[in-house]
Amino acid sequence: MTIDFTLSDAQQELQKNAQGFAEGVLRPVAEQIDRAPDGWEAFLAGREAYRAMAKAGFTASFIPTEYGGGGFSMLDFAIAAEELSRVDISVPTTLLASGLGLQPVIQHGTHEQKERFLRPFVEDAEGDLLASYAFTDVAGGANFDSTDPSAGIQTMAYHDGDEWVITGEKHYTTNGTGWGRKGCQLYTVVCRTDPAAGADESLAVIVVPGDVRGITVVDVYDKIGNRGVVTPRVHFDGVRVPADNLIGQPGEQGKRIVSGAFSWTAALIGSACVGTMRAAFEYALDFARTEKRLGTVPLIEHQNVGFMLADIKMRIEACRYLTWKACHDFDRTGGLAEELPIMTKIFCSETAVSTVYDCMRVVGIASYTRDLAPLERLMRDAMVFPLYDGGNMGVRRRQLHDMFRQPGYDSMLAARGDVPPWQRSVR
Ligand SMILES: Cc1cc2nc3c(=O)[nH]c(=O)nc-3n(C[C@H](O)[C@H](O)[C@H](O)COP(=O)(O)OP(=O)(O)OC[C@H]3O[C@@H](n4cnc5c(N)ncnc54)[C@H](O)[C@@H]3O)c2cc1C
Repeated sequence: MTIDFTLSDAQQELQKNAQGFAEGVLRPVAEQIDRAPDGWEAFLAGREAYRAMAKAGFTASFIPTEYGGGGFSMLDFAIAAEELSRVDISVPTTLLASGLGLQPVIQHGTHEQKERFLRPFVEDAEGDLLASYAFTDVAGGANFDSTDPSAGIQTMAYHDGDEWVITGEKHYTTNGTGWGRKGCQLYTVVCRTDPAAGADESLAVIVVPGDVRGITVVDVYDKIGNRGVVTPRVHFDGVRVPADNLIGQPGEQGKRIVSGAFSWTAALIGSACVGTMRAAFEYALDFARTEKRLGTVPLIEHQNVGFMLADIKMRIEACRYLTWKACHDFDRTGGLAEELPIMTKIFCSETAVSTVYDCMRVVGIASYTRDLAPLERLMRDAMVFPLYDGGNMGVRRRQLHDMFRQPGYDSMLAARGDVPPWQRSVR
């Protein structure tokens, strides 16, 4: 018998601690973050909570123990992320984005690069450091992997002596402001090393420390949800970094590095979706059990309300175990089993939007009002799940479509958690 969904004692302890942290540290600031006057103020409203997160060991939890980190498995991280996201989405997403920024180094860096780039984050007890994954060009993100050199990523890096020189415009570069709005401590920049070659030959990821010349934070976007997740526009103008800041090699490996980083977040976004749905369900359930709305019995006594709550709860449970399996497969294969993480991202994100809306339908009109119920915030937060981290249309479904077109595709790969044959040769 190898299937076992029972959490270990250590995982139950982690779940409890994350729950305590969420209630004690995130709950008091969640509303302040959401109602801040603009995107920058919303981000700053989460600063002390992020510091507390660093002190509690969360910010280095996903860094391998070999480099001083907590060595959390993806599954451990997902268990904690569900608890945190249930209370607030912004501060945990800041952490997730820093983790995304470091993933190319963690998954594909050399020993020397890991020592150089990960150690400072492990030693950062105050949460002063932020990493950022600079993937999305201002002109688009979905077609980053185009084989046509006239399309695809337009941020370019050229080799000059023993340096890379990078120029381009990125946006939604989460954490790219740092806490001081002058830039963060580390960017992993997705670029091309040859304007005459498509992604297959030239896509690359280069580490850029934040203190080099030529980086400008141009603007901070305000958004309808996830308001404390800072998503600036960042210009890289002739930014010079040492040649050995290149992770892996440009081309096929560069593509693999980009999709590997996105698989890490894909699986984890499943747990953010579950946390958000849980918060909505708990509110709707409590409302249904306690409110009569001028009737004679609590709402839950009406069959339509009870059946709807049953449908909502089933979807939440299904998403949680899909997420756990995706994380487990990711852990076992070093991120190479990508099909299930991608499906998890699409399925849980779209389920989260419809589920939070169904919770609003249970509660009725009060759910549409800022001061009467928390559901309008949860709805605004949930709406980004299908759109970001590689939109479900332009990126995620296209990834699945590509897999289904591969000659060696086997429909039981995801169930077995196997690495597909076309992935084995690339890493
Ligand atoms: C809160 C938040 C945090 C984010 N964090 C980051 C981050 O840390 N780093 C980062 O780089 N980005 C980040 N992003 C951006 C995010 O990852 C985007 O989802 C991603 O860049 C792709 O955007 P898109 O899918 O809308 O692509 P776009 O290129 O803008 O495409 C727009 C739409 O066109 C259609 N489309 C385009 N091409 C195709 C195609 N070939 N086939 C089918 N349909 C197509 C799709 O409908 C797609 O949704 C963040 C965004 C938000 C809101």
